[in-house]
Amino acid sequence: MRHFLSLCIFAVLVVCAPLAQAQVQAYELQIVIHAFNAEYREELAKANAQLVINNPPTAGATDFWWNRDEVRASYSTSQENGVRTHYIFMMGGYARMQGMTVDGVIATICHELGHGLAGSPYKEGQDGGAKISVEGQADYFAYTSCLPRMFKRLTGAKSTSSASEYAEKICSARFIQSRSDQKQYDYCLRAIQTLETEKTFFWQSTRTSVDLSIADRSVILKTDLSADYYPSPQCRFDTMLAGILQGTRPRCWFKEE
Ligand SMILES: [Zn+2]
Repeated sequence: MRHFLSLCIFAVLVVCAPLAQAQVQAYELQIVIHAFNAEYREELAKANAQLVINNPPTAGATDFWWNRDEVRASYSTSQENGVRTHYIFMMGGYARMQGMTVDGVIATICHELGHGLAGSPYKEGQDGGAKISVEGQADYFAYTSCLPRMFKRLTGAKSTSSASEYAEKICSARFIQSRSDQKQYDYCLRAIQTLETEKTFFWQSTRTSVDLSIADRSVILKTDLSADYYPSPQCRFDTMLAGILQGTRPRCWFKEE
C-alpha cells in the first residue's frame, strides 16, 4: 500500500511538473490577443488598416501557433486593395518561456505592433517600400504608447510579484512630485517589472545580461536603418526604460536627422 501511495505521488508530480513551469497559458494569450484587437481595431480601420494576430494557416487550426516551440515573435505586413494588414505572430514557445508573464507577452506584442505603428525611423529595403519602424523605435513605442494603453485595458493581468526597492526608487524619483503623477508612478512600477521578462529573453536568446543600473554609453553618428540591424541588448533595454521614464531615445541607436 505504501509503495502504491508513493507511486501515486510520483505520478501526480510528473503530471503537475509541466503545469508548474508553464508561465503563460494558451487562454491567457487569447485574452491578450482579444484585448489588442479591441484596443486598436477602430483607429486602424480609420487608417484603412487592420491587425491580425496569430492568423491560423488553415481554417480551424486555431492552436497552430500556440503549438510551435520556437521562442520568437514576428511582424509582417501587406498592402492589398488599399488596406494595410499588420500581421503579428507569437509562437507558443515564447509565451511558455521560463519567467515569462502575461505583461511580458503584452510588451512583446506591443513591440511587434510598433514595427507597423511607431513611425520614423523606418527600415530600408523593405518589399514594396513597406514602412516598417526600426527595432529601437518599436521598443520605444512599446513602452511609451502601447503598454500604457494595454495595461489600462488589462488591469487584471498585473504581475503578482511585488516591485523591487530599486524600481520603487527610480519610479518615485521620476513621478511622485505631485498626486496627479500617481497613475504614471503605477505604470512605471508595472512596466519596470515587465522589463524582467525582457532581461530573461535577452539572456535566453543572446546570453547577454542587461540591467537597470547600467547603460550602453555608445553614441552613434547615424541611425542604422539596415533591415536586420538590432541595437545591443543593453541599448534596447535602455530604450525601454527611457520610454517608461518619458525620456528621449538613447543615442546608442537614435540620431535626430
Ligand atoms: Zn522587432
